[in-house]
Amino acid sequence: MSLVLSHNDIVQIGLRIASSAHLNAFCDHATSKPDIGRRLEDLRIVIYDHIPPSLSLRRCLTLVPNLVDLDLLLSAPFPPNLLDGVILEDLRFFCTNLLHDALVAFFAVHSRLSVLMLESCHAHGLPECPLHVTDLPHLKCISRPASCVSHFAKPGLTRLGMTLPNDTCSILLLLRAIPFRLFSVCTLTIDFRAGDPNILSSVIASCPTVRKLKLLEKPSAACCHVATCCAWNDTATWSKSMRSLTQLEEIMLRTASPIVQRSGNEDNERKVLMRWITGLCSVTRGQPHHHPTLYHIGV
Ligand SMILES: [Zn+2]
Repeated sequence: MSLVLSHNDIVQIGLRIASSAHLNAFCDHATSKPDIGRRLEDLRIVIYDHIPPSLSLRRCLTLVPNLVDLDLLLSAPFPPNLLDGVILEDLRFFCTNLLHDALVAFFAVHSRLSVLMLESCHAHGLPECPLHVTDLPHLKCISRPASCVSHFAKPGLTRLGMTLPNDTCSILLLLRAIPFRLFSVCTLTIDFRAGDPNILSSVIASCPTVRKLKLLEKPSAACCHVATCCAWNDTATWSKSMRSLTQLEEIMLRTASPIVQRSGNEDNERKVLMRWITGLCSVTRGQPHHHPTLYHIGV
């Protein structure tokens, strides 16, 4: 057992379990001394190298009723009905790779969750993610598969992360399909595809007051060549779009595509980034339109 810092920098009592042997030892210990489990607020069960016994997992989760923060990351195939009957009234932070249809009943009795990190949906073939019937009104932060988490994108959310699990959906379309403008989102992380033309306009449409924006190019299985035509090649439009994000402080862009014709020329790359900031085609001509809040660009 250890003291760990939680998401709020509050000291919590935490434990990390990384094997079935450790899991069983903890269960035995906490059964003989229930205070051991009751004191735990932060539990990370991360067992990837074998399939842990579901009985021990469920027993463990019933021995820690005061958990605030739970990571539950297991190797597949996942134990069925693992969370049935598990009630953690204080749970606020939950990170798991369990199947989404296994989470519906659990979320129905844990509606006060505020931070949620999910892995792949595994709901391929179903018309939509099973979690689309779930309401988590206190959610502040959610991340991972775009088609699953877009359902939770509602007013009040402050952090949104959307990844592309496959080539079948477009995050930009999902962003535009969100029926609310998310004025509360200050941190947005999204995947995009090389050559996507409307990256920033989709962000402006959905999260106009974002402060920290991370754009991660997703390699496409169908398209292995490096894109030569990217949204930022039109510097004037790119710069104007950045200025439309009036509270933007940081933008991080990960791409395999070059931002200048001769990649690796630091001087030219610096000039391009200055054009993003000023909107000028030349550093010596015209009136710069400096972004009012932007202080960090990372490529
Ligand atoms: Zn899902």
